[in-house]
Amino acid sequence: MPTIPINIVTGTLQPKEIIVGIDLGTTNSLIAFVHPDSKQPVVLKEYGEQSLVPSIIHIDSSGTTLVGDQALPYLQNDTKHTLFSIKRLMGKSYTDLKGYLSFFSYQLVETKEQTAVQVQVYDKRYTPIELSSFILKELKTRAEHILKMSVSKAVITVPAYFNDAQRQATRDAGALAGLEVLRIVNEPTAASLAYGIGLNPQDEKLLAVYDFGGGTFDITILSISNGIFEVLSTNGDTFLGGDDIDKAVVDYWMKGLGDFQSQIKKDSNLSSQLRLIAEEAKKKLSVEEQFSVHWMSHKLTLNSLELARLAEPILQKTLDCCTRALEDAKIDISSLTDILMVGGSTRMPFVKNKVASFFNRSVNDSINPDEAVALGAAIQADILAGNNKDLLLLDVTPLSLGIETMGGLMEVLIPRNSKIPIKVAKQFTTHKDGQSDMRISVFQGERDLVEDNRKLGEFLLKGIPAMPAGLPKVEITLLLNADGILQVSAQELRSGVQHQIAIKPQLGLTDTAVEDMLQAGFDSAKQDKEMRALVEAKTEAHSMITLTEQFIKKNSNLLDAVEITNTQQAIANLQEAIAKNNKQVIQQKTNQLNDISKPYAERIMNIAIKQSLEGKKI
Ligand code: AMP
Repeated sequence: MPTIPINIVTGTLQPKEIIVGIDLGTTNSLIAFVHPDSKQPVVLKEYGEQSLVPSIIHIDSSGTTLVGDQALPYLQNDTKHTLFSIKRLMGKSYTDLKGYLSFFSYQLVETKEQTAVQVQVYDKRYTPIELSSFILKELKTRAEHILKMSVSKAVITVPAYFNDAQRQATRDAGALAGLEVLRIVNEPTAASLAYGIGLNPQDEKLLAVYDFGGGTFDITILSISNGIFEVLSTNGDTFLGGDDIDKAVVDYWMKGLGDFQSQIKKDSNLSSQLRLIAEEAKKKLSVEEQFSVHWMSHKLTLNSLELARLAEPILQKTLDCCTRALEDAKIDISSLTDILMVGGSTRMPFVKNKVASFFNRSVNDSINPDEAVALGAAIQADILAGNNKDLLLLDVTPLSLGIETMGGLMEVLIPRNSKIPIKVAKQFTTHKDGQSDMRISVFQGERDLVEDNRKLGEFLLKGIPAMPAGLPKVEITLLLNADGILQVSAQELRSGVQHQIAIKPQLGLTDTAVEDMLQAGFDSAKQDKEMRALVEAKTEAHSMITLTEQFIKKNSNLLDAVEITNTQQAIANLQEAIAKNNKQVIQQKTNQLNDISKPYAERIMNIAIKQSLEGKKI
């Protein structure tokens, strides 16, 4: 029987289900949807005006939580129990965050290496997933309040460089908030949709999305063709944003505050007050030339030229990231068609000017930079709701994915910057006779030796039927889905034995770690190549020794004593060379062993062939 949905609050017929788009930001979060009547994306505004929900949570001694604007005042007077920048904790361990502990005024709990970090507030501990779910829940409640209908499905955005663990954590946070997360979308992809770029399937575009927020900076190069969005490269810095400019202003003012400085430094409430005044000054100077205020019997002043000078080094860092992103994408600045401005910090006139002169063209800032990502998420949600069938979104993976092969080598199956979703399969085999198990270890990174990369997970393919080495055909498949979550499967094709796992790494990489791994990959390319060649030479030598030993054992009656002694000597020489780790000598001794064994191996083969022919009647 068909059901007729009725809104129980208003008593009216319920419109078709609305899927919301959520920008879960480090500083602020927003929720948006495509209006069923106007078909335009709109952000939801509480009381008709405020769309941003500060990503801040206050928890009191009884465990009561306040989220967003209500939590904001506690940032100044209850810093230990007011949690901000939760997004930086997503998918991270305590170890990942060790270098940044001073950044957080609340308490991070030291957990085991491979487990997610926790936050201690009074006697309770919270995971970043739980904390993010509080923010998502607040957004969901707001949306339900405004729309007067239940909201249960969402698209949530994440930075393009977020790894598996961080994406999975975001998904889990959504589920915990009672939201079915239909898609995790990259923020720059969402932003370009909001700018209306790519909505026409005929669009051919090459964009730079410059996203300068409160605590993070990202640059993404996107190409759009035939309605397909493709991230060509991403770069950025997760500890660089408008907050750093506020800090530079605070430092500048501090110099003029004499003895009062030490008192401010000691009192976290005073220092956070000063930081908020600095932010206020910065915002004001986006529209005015001069700022001045009296605080604690001191006069604080700042003008737009001074602000630009203080922000200059911070801005330069963002431009350096842009240079690297262009290099990675292998494109020339002149081929870009649009520069899109995203994030609150792009409101500053000198930021726009600097970025425009770097890219040598005017920037597009026509969309509210705070709302662009949420609006784009809403458009994606609308596509998923089946209202816009022409669009497809493709992104790239920032690091290579592969498995460990003999000698601890990294065999890349999905190279970095591959478009996702992507599925790659490759065949491998056993190296021992009768080998029944095969360990499949999955790694992420750019180095040739797996020990220098990051292990994502591993499993055992069991029950391979006994076969000589090299005969089983084990097909390993890596599937990276549209959310950037990895599935690995292995199947022995002759017997059908199979096993598969969804890689749910408990933890991910910090994005600086991603950068470091990329850099390490570039820096060590030559050294890695040499190491790979050595490992390959050793692997070949080992198998040559095994084969020769087996051959001698089997055919000892057909060999003379000199042949056996010479072969054993050549094996001993090769083993010695392996121990010394010299590739040239290993290859030389492998060849010598081959030269010694070749004549008698051929002789014995001929005998075998002759015998088998004699046995046959023609
Ligand atoms: P987002 O992370 O995109 O929400 O951006 C927040 C950052 O944008 C904070 O550092 C704000 O101080 C900054 N911001 C917001 N509005 C302005 C403005 N009018 N002028 C300068 N910075 C701003």
